[in-house]
Amino acid sequence: MAKSVVDPRIKGFICTTAHPVGCAAHVREQVAHVRKQKPIEGVRNVLVIGASTGYGLASRIAAAFGANANTVGVYFERPAQGDRTASAGWYNTVAFNDELRKNCPGVKSININGDAFSDVIKTQVIEAIKKSLGKVDLVVYSLASPRRTHPKTGQVFHSVLKPTGQTFQGKTVNTDRGIVHDVTIDPATEEEIAATVAVMGGEDWQLWMEALHEAGVLAQGARTVAYSYIGPELTWAIYKDGTIGRAKADLDLAVQRIRKMLKPIQGQAFISVNKAVVTQASSAIPVVPLYISLLFKVMKQMHLHEGCIEQMHRLFSELYGGKATIDEAGRIRMDDRELREDVQVAVAAAWPALTTENLHTETDYDAYIAGFLKLFGFGFPDVDYAQPVETELEIGDENG
Ligand code: NAD
Repeated sequence: MAKSVVDPRIKGFICTTAHPVGCAAHVREQVAHVRKQKPIEGVRNVLVIGASTGYGLASRIAAAFGANANTVGVYFERPAQGDRTASAGWYNTVAFNDELRKNCPGVKSININGDAFSDVIKTQVIEAIKKSLGKVDLVVYSLASPRRTHPKTGQVFHSVLKPTGQTFQGKTVNTDRGIVHDVTIDPATEEEIAATVAVMGGEDWQLWMEALHEAGVLAQGARTVAYSYIGPELTWAIYKDGTIGRAKADLDLAVQRIRKMLKPIQGQAFISVNKAVVTQASSAIPVVPLYISLLFKVMKQMHLHEGCIEQMHRLFSELYGGKATIDEAGRIRMDDRELREDVQVAVAAAWPALTTENLHTETDYDAYIAGFLKLFGFGFPDVDYAQPVETELEIGDENG
C-alpha cells in the first residue's frame, strides 16, 4: 500500500499523474447525470472496447447506470508502480465498479486490461462473455490509440495527425503556455496515411465483430457502434481531410462489411459521429483544443453544450428509443448541435480574431484547461489535494 500526495504533472498534452479520489469524483459526476435521466430500455449486455476514459467510459456508464446493463469493459491502462500513480483510466474503472456495487446491486461488470488489437484479448473477452453473460446485445467500439501491433503480421503501426496532400498552415494553441500561434504541418507520406488507417481505421472493429460472431456470442438483433468525427470546415485540413479523417473514412467501408456479416442474426452496425469534447485523444490533435475552447463558449451561450456523458446518454436513449438522427450515409449524427448553422456561423466569425491576448475572454479556454485536468482527477472542489491518498488500487476481474 502506498499513500502519497498527488499533484498534476503535465507534459505537453498528457498528464503523467492521476488522482484516484479525483477520478472517482469525475466518475460519480457522470453517474449522477445518468441517474437523473429517463432510464434506457432494451439493452442488457454490453461490450465496450476502449471503456476506461472519454467516450468509451461515458458509454459504459450510460449503459450500466442508465439501462442496468451488464458491461464488459476492455481498456489498456497502467496500475500504480512504486511512486508512479496508476493511469486515469485505471482509477476510473476502480470507481466505476465501486459506484456499480453501491447503486446497482446484481449488475455485472467484467474488466479486461490489455491490448484490444491482439487476438489474445479478443479470445479472453469471448471466454468471459460465455462464462458470465452468454451473449452481448451491443458492442461499442471506442478505441483511440497512437499505435497498433497487427495481430496477424506482428507489424507495428504508428498513427500520425497530419494533413494529406498539402501543407497545413493555421492557428493552434499551445496548452502548456496558453499561447495562440501559427503552425505549419507538412503533409503525411503515403506510408504515414496507411499506418494511421491501420491504427484508427475499421479493420480492428471488423476483426472484433468477426471473432464475436464466429464464437456465437452476439445475441439475435445485436448492434454495434463505432465513433467518428467530422467537424466544421475550419478543422477539415487537419481532421476530416487529414490522416485521421482517412482512418475514419475507412470505418465507413468496415461498417458495410459488418452489416453484411450480421444479416443472418438481424444485427445492425452503426457509425456515430460524435461532438468534439475534451478527452485525452482530442487534446493531442493540433487546432482542435483551440476550436473546442471556442465551440464550448458558443454552445454554452446557446444552451446547447454537451460533454461525453450527455452525448452518450443521448446516443443510447435515441438508439434504443428509435429516434436517432441518421444522415444520408447511414451515420448517426450526434454532432447535430455542434454543426448547427448558427453555432458554426458564430465560431467562424470569432475564429480569425483569436489571439493569445483574447483567448480567455473570447473562448472558453479556462474551461477547456479545467476539463483537461478533470480527465486526470484534478480540480474537483470536494477533493482535498493536500491529503496523501492511497494510489495502489486493485480492479477485480469481475464485479456484481
Ligand atoms: P480516449 O483517449 O479518452 O479513450 C481511448 C480508450 O481506448 C481508453 O479507454 C483506452 O484505454 C483505450 N485504448 C487505447 N489503446 C488501447 C489498446 N491497444 N487496447 C485496449 N484499449 C485501448 O479517447 P476518446 O476521445 O474517447 O475517443 C474514443 C473514440 O471517439 C475515438 O474513435 C475517437 O475518434 C472518437 N471521437 C472522439 C471525439 C472527441 O472529441 N474526443 C469526437 C468524436 C469522436
